Amino acid sequence: MAANLISEVPIYRKGFGLKQEVAGELEQDYHCELIDHLQRHDFHLKLPQVEVFLAREFGFCYGVDRAVDYAYETRKKFPERRLFLTTEIIHNPRVNTRLIEMGVQFLSGQYASGVKIGDLKPEDVVLLPAFGVSTHELKALEKTGCVLVDTTCGSVANVWRRVERYAREGYTSVVHGKYNHEETIATCSRAESQPGSKYLVVRDLNEADYVCDFIRHGGDSEEFKSKFEKAASQGFDPNLHLRKIGVANQTTMLSSESLEIARRIKVALADRYGEDDLGNRFLSFDTICSATQERQDAVIDMVKNPLDLVLIVGGFNSSNTSHLREISGEKYPAYHIDRLSRIQGSDLIEHRDPETGDLVQTKDWLPKEFCRIGFTAGASTPNQVIGEVIQKVLEIKGVDVLALAQSMTGQPPSRETVE
Ligand code: SF4
Repeated sequence: MAANLISEVPIYRKGFGLKQEVAGELEQDYHCELIDHLQRHDFHLKLPQVEVFLAREFGFCYGVDRAVDYAYETRKKFPERRLFLTTEIIHNPRVNTRLIEMGVQFLSGQYASGVKIGDLKPEDVVLLPAFGVSTHELKALEKTGCVLVDTTCGSVANVWRRVERYAREGYTSVVHGKYNHEETIATCSRAESQPGSKYLVVRDLNEADYVCDFIRHGGDSEEFKSKFEKAASQGFDPNLHLRKIGVANQTTMLSSESLEIARRIKVALADRYGEDDLGNRFLSFDTICSATQERQDAVIDMVKNPLDLVLIVGGFNSSNTSHLREISGEKYPAYHIDRLSRIQGSDLIEHRDPETGDLVQTKDWLPKEFCRIGFTAGASTPNQVIGEVIQKVLEIKGVDVLALAQSMTGQPPSRETVE
C-alpha cells in the first residue's frame, strides 16, 4: 500500500505514481522560457538598456517541488472527492490561487473557505502542507477519518526528529524562528512530545541576548514570561527551563544568525554553569535546510557584481524570501515583491517594508539610464512568476521583449496571467 497507517487513518506520503500524468499541467502552470534561457546563459543577460543578473539558486526548492507535485497528483487521483489543504501549501499566491481553481479548499488562513476540520467527512481528502502541521491538528484530522496526503518536507521532519530527541533527553528546545510561522508551530508541538518538555522561540539576536542574560544572571521572570508569552510553552518558567538547552531552527532562517544564536546560548550556559558541564547542558544542530542555504549563498555571490538594485520575488509571509531581501539590502536597494502588479512602471513600486512588514511604495525606483539589476526568488516562487517580473522590467526599460523571445525560442513569449 502506498500509504503509512497511523492510527486508523491512511496517510499517503509518497505520491500516487502519477508524476508523468501531471507533468504537462505543472509545466504549463509554472515553467518559463526566459528563465530557461538565463539558466543556459550563465544566469546573465546583457542588453543595451539593462543588464540582468539572476541568482544561481532561486525559486522552487526540492520540498516545494514535491509538495506541489503531490497536490496535483492528489487532484488527479481523487477527481470527485472534496479536497482540502489545512492552510497554504507553500507561501506563494500564484500556487495557492491555482490550487483553488483546481477545486482545492482551504481550512484556514487567508484563503479559508469556511469549512472547518470538524466538518470533514471520511471520504474527504486533506493535503498537509510542505511545512507540516502540529501534532494537535494532526490528531484532530485523524479523528475525522479523512484521507491524509502528507507533503511535509523531509528537511522539516528532520528538525522534528531533533527536537523530539531534545525532549526525550530533558532539554528545552530553543527554536530560532517566527513563533507564528506554520513550520515553527509544528516543530514546537514536537518539542513538547514528552510530559513536561518545553520550548522557547527566539526570533533574532536581540531576543537571544535577552535569554542569554537571564541564563547568566537570572532576572524578572514575570517580565520574561510576558515578553515570550506567545513564543513559549504554557507553564514555561525561565528559572527552571533554561538549564538544559537544545537549539534548533526553522529551516528557512538566516543561517549566519542561527549559528550565532546557538553560539551565544552555549557561551551563556558555560558562563553560568562552567565549561565542564556543557556536555550535559547544551545541544545544537544546524537545521537550516540545504535549499535555503544555497539560495542565501547564491544571493551573496550575486551581489558581488556591481548592481543598481535587487528585486526579490516571493510571498510576503515567506520567511526564506525575507532573508534573501535582508542579504541583498545590506549592499543595494532591494525590493521584495510578491506579484507582478506591484511594479507600476519605472515611477512606482509597491513592496514589503522589511521592518514593519507593511506594503510601502517607492517612487523612481528604476534608473532611467542603463542599469544593472539582480533578481532572485524565494523557495516557493514558480519560475513563471520570476520570468514575468524580469520581462516586465525589460519592457519598462524599452526592450523589445517579443523580438528577444523570438531570438531565444523562435516563438513569441507566452503572456500568462498577470496578477
Ligand atoms: S525551504 Fe527547505 S525545508 Fe522548506 S520546503 Fe524547501 S527544502 Fe523543505
